[in-house]
Amino acid sequence: SLPTIYAITPTYKRLVQKADLTRMSNTLLHVANLHWIVVEDSESKTSLVGDLLRKTGLKYTHLNVHETENITSRGSRQRNLALKWLRDNFSVNDSNEGVVYFADDDNTYSLELFDEMRYTKKVSVWPVGFTGEMRFASCKVNELGKVSGWVVVFAPNRRFAIDMAGFAINLKLILSKSDVNFRLFNVSRGKQETTFLQRLVTLSDLEPKAANCTKVLVWHTRTSEPPNIQSLGDPNIES
Ligand code: UDP
Ligand code: MN
Repeated sequence: SLPTIYAITPTYKRLVQKADLTRMSNTLLHVANLHWIVVEDSESKTSLVGDLLRKTGLKYTHLNVHETENITSRGSRQRNLALKWLRDNFSVNDSNEGVVYFADDDNTYSLELFDEMRYTKKVSVWPVGFTGEMRFASCKVNELGKVSGWVVVFAPNRRFAIDMAGFAINLKLILSKSDVNFRLFNVSRGKQETTFLQRLVTLSDLEPKAANCTKVLVWHTRTSEPPNIQSLGDPNIES
């Protein structure tokens, strides 16, 4: 059977949250063998997210953990809780194959992307649109088909100069390296991904996807706050 894709999505309350989650769930409904792990940045699970998840018909796990500290990387504590859930629920000795992907709730995902990541042996990588201070940030692939570096403007000296949306990890690697998590403190902007990946793999382990990193299949889009909202209307109506 197809390896399962575990898509880990941190999410938080804001005006456009339901719109973003609706769009994302509509994408994920097209993906076979996907398990959506949604982690709310909140003190308790909200009915907005819970009802939305239930109605999608997707296979999902709904978690929550509230971020109270002022940390540099939004979503890190939530991603770590999802990693803990995977480690608590699966064992390296299980026969089931899987891949873990950190999928923020506001990005844009092509369906091809999920085909590309599904058979990841260790860590697979691909370009990401609208990140790294570029139209798209990419990976350099040499004539042997190995990743040799990065095409980025922002902080090019990072060992893994890649956005959260630009890689996926084999589930067994996540389970076997059970102490690898995102750092909550003392990690500067844009270094969260490299700090995490450095503890899992070396550059030579990386598997370039998306036609040797020549196709953009995911975009680091951001949903702008709707301008000029004059009224919040009936508070009993969810939106
Ligand atoms: N997020 C969160 N709590 C916050 C801010 C963000 O859980 O206080 C989530 C957000 O919903 C998204 C991810 O963390 O899934 C990354 O946040 P965002 O998209 O705002 O970051 P950016 O696009 O600026 O990197
Ligand atoms: Mn975002």
